[in-house]
Amino acid sequence: MTPPDDEPRDPPRDDQRAQFTEDEQRAMRAAFAAGQPVRCPRCDAAMTSRAIGGGSFGLGYARQREWLMCTRCKRSAMFDVKRGTRN
Ligand SMILES: [Zn+2]
Repeated sequence: MTPPDDEPRDPPRDDQRAQFTEDEQRAMRAAFAAGQPVRCPRCDAAMTSRAIGGGSFGLGYARQREWLMCTRCKRSAMFDVKRGTRN
């Protein structure tokens, strides 16, 4: 559900669509990579994670993205997850 790239439209700036900061995203990714439950740094609610995979094989490498969304404030963060971290 992504809008076309050629659509000249500014992203919404209301608070509900606010993004996490780089530091917050880094902390969430670290917790996720460590296998810990990820909590929202804004409201401390549990965050749901959804793996977004597939469709990347045409690029020559398999990349997995993880989409974390807070169940309370609905903020979300998406980041790439390196494969093979489960040792
Ligand atoms: Zn939240």
